Amino acid sequence: MVLDEPKRPLELRDVQKPKPGKGQLLVRVSTCAVCRTDLHVVDSELPDPKLPLILGHQIVGHVEGIGEEISNFAVGDRVGIPWLGWTDGVCAYCRSGRENLCDNARFTGYTVDGGYAEFTVADVRYCFHLPERYDDIEVAPLLCAGLIGYRSYRKTGDARRLGIYGFGNAAHLISQIALYEGRELFVFTRPGDKATQQVAKELGAVWAGGSDEMPPEKLDAAIIFASVGPLVPAALRALAKGGIVVCGGIHMSDIPSFPYADLWEECVITSVANLTRHDGEEFFEIAPRVPVKTKTETFPLEEANTALDLFRAGKLSATAVLTIAE
Ligand SMILES: [Zn+2]
Ligand SMILES: [Zn+2]
Repeated sequence: MVLDEPKRPLELRDVQKPKPGKGQLLVRVSTCAVCRTDLHVVDSELPDPKLPLILGHQIVGHVEGIGEEISNFAVGDRVGIPWLGWTDGVCAYCRSGRENLCDNARFTGYTVDGGYAEFTVADVRYCFHLPERYDDIEVAPLLCAGLIGYRSYRKTGDARRLGIYGFGNAAHLISQIALYEGRELFVFTRPGDKATQQVAKELGAVWAGGSDEMPPEKLDAAIIFASVGPLVPAALRALAKGGIVVCGGIHMSDIPSFPYADLWEECVITSVANLTRHDGEEFFEIAPRVPVKTKTETFPLEEANTALDLFRAGKLSATAVLTIAE
C-alpha cells in the first residue's frame, strides 16, 4: 500500500521486491500494527516524509534473506522492526547514548519504507528478536505503542502517583507495567467518557475521571498520550512539587500559556522522541513478565485505508493490525 502524497488514500499496487544490502534483512511481513504517527504522516502533520512511501513501523515478519555480515539472525527467524531504522553512530547524540536524537536518524515508514507491504528490508542492528509468548498479531502493537510508551514511562522515574492523560493504545500497555511495578494510577479521559474510565478502573487505576477534573491527590508525574496541547497546563496543575509532565506523542496541538506559578517548585515538562535500542531490549524483557496484554483488531493489508479512517474517526476500540497473507 503506497502513499504517493499526504492527504490522499494509500494505493494498492505492485512494487519491486526490495533487495537486502550489506547488514540488512529481507523480511516477509506477517503483521504490521497501525500507529497514530501513520495518521500524522497521511494527514500532512509531519514534515518531509519520503515519497512515495510505504507506511508502517510496528512490523512483525520472518527473515527471507540476509545481506552480508549478519550473524544474529538466520533465514526463517521471526523479527520485529521498530520506528528507529538507522542512526549514524557518530554524531554527538549517538556518542552520548542518545541515538533516539541522532541528527541523521532514519525512521521506518516515514523516511524509509515500512511494513504496509508483503516485503521490507531493515538494518539488522535495529531489529528485535520478539518474546515467544506472543503471536504475530499480539506482539505488533508492542513495537511502537509499547516501546515508545515505555520510554515515556521510564522518564517518570520512581513516581508513585502516576497520571495518564489519554487512555489509548500506548496508555493501555504502559498502565499494565506501571501497576505491575506498584504505581498508583490516575487516568484522565475525554470529559464524560465514562466507558473508558470504567475500563481504566477495571484494569486497576485508583481513580479515573475527565481531563477537566483534578485528581483527589497531587501526582508525582503525568504522561500525556493525547495530542492535545491544552492538556499540558492541565497536567501541570495536577502535579506535586518537583513533578514531571511527559508528552509521549510525536505531534501535539499548540500549548496555551499558563502562569509561572504552575511550573514553580521544580516542575518539569519534557517530550519523548523516538526510541533507543536499549529501550527496546528493556521493554521486551519486562513485557512478557507482566505480562503486558494487547488488544487488537485485524484488517487485511488491502484495507489499510479503512483502518486509518476508523482510527482517525476514533472508531477503533483496539489497535488496528494489518495482516498480510502469504
Ligand atoms: Zn547520530
Ligand atoms: Zn508509532
